[in-house]
Amino acid sequence: MDWLGMATFDPEGLSFAQRDGDACVVCHKRWPRPRVHVGRLPDSSRVLACPDCAEALLPAMPATVVGLPSR
Ligand SMILES: [Zn+2]
Repeated sequence: MDWLGMATFDPEGLSFAQRDGDACVVCHKRWPRPRVHVGRLPDSSRVLACPDCAEALLPAMPATVVGLPSR
């Protein structure tokens, strides 16, 4: 999933693991590995979060991810 990879995170508040994409940017968990790409750092490194955190972090997920009602 790569739906909001355009958000930019401030590396100031992140640990090294979080900046490396080794830990969830929200809860710091390293395992299970964060898999959702929620944004980037100013140097364009990827910022990852676990699926649950990504949902909490990005309540405005594009509807295409959630599934549009059929019309
Ligand atoms: Zn998390």
